[in-house]
Amino acid sequence: MKIKSADFVMSNSNVLKCPNEPLPEYAFIGRSNVGKSSLINMLTERKSLAKTSGRPGKTQLINHFKINNNWFLVDLPGYGYARVSKKSKNTFQKYITDYFRKRKQLVNAFVLVDIRHEPQKIDTEFMSWLGLEGIPFSIIFTKADKLKPSEKETKVAAYLDHLLQEAWEEAPVYFITSSSSYEGREELLQYIDSINKA
Ligand code: GDP
Repeated sequence: MKIKSADFVMSNSNVLKCPNEPLPEYAFIGRSNVGKSSLINMLTERKSLAKTSGRPGKTQLINHFKINNNWFLVDLPGYGYARVSKKSKNTFQKYITDYFRKRKQLVNAFVLVDIRHEPQKIDTEFMSWLGLEGIPFSIIFTKADKLKPSEKETKVAAYLDHLLQEAWEEAPVYFITSSSSYEGREELLQYIDSINKA
């Protein structure tokens, strides 16, 4: 898929105020600092469409970007940032869970995990929750340039194995990406394109 346009539409913390358009929507979510903003900028080839922030946890809103005038890329807040207060954590969870439960346009969630890390409870629990809610998701392994090719394979295999042992019957669709080398970009965009055209 060629990205012809990528436009910021709105930010908010209420699913009911998200764009009132029937376009298919793809949500990107993961721990703070996982490389989500960099990935969104890499995918759209826009330098600062998503704000890469030195201060994780700063962008606490649901951000809608309209791509090629035919689908929405949704940048969700990074989770698991220790420095936000408990109260703001609860508010955060409520509007994010609301978004996932109520947003009919949502086609697929992309859960980002750093390829170098062992499976983290916060991510795998979130994937289980998506599964229980019946929300389709795929995994995006980020920062692949930080590992050698052989290490990448081992890490990904171990991650998927962990999920299978945790109760998943089959491994989810996954992508190995790097925002610096553009690895995985075509595959990811093609995947979105294929769903949009189905
Ligand atoms: P976010 O908090 O998930 O939006 O993460 P950012 O996109 O702001 O990235 C967090 C840090 O990881 C920044 O210092 C980025 O430069 C770095 N980073 C993000 N993606 C990559 C990548 O693919 N490769 C490398 N080497 N560094 C990355």
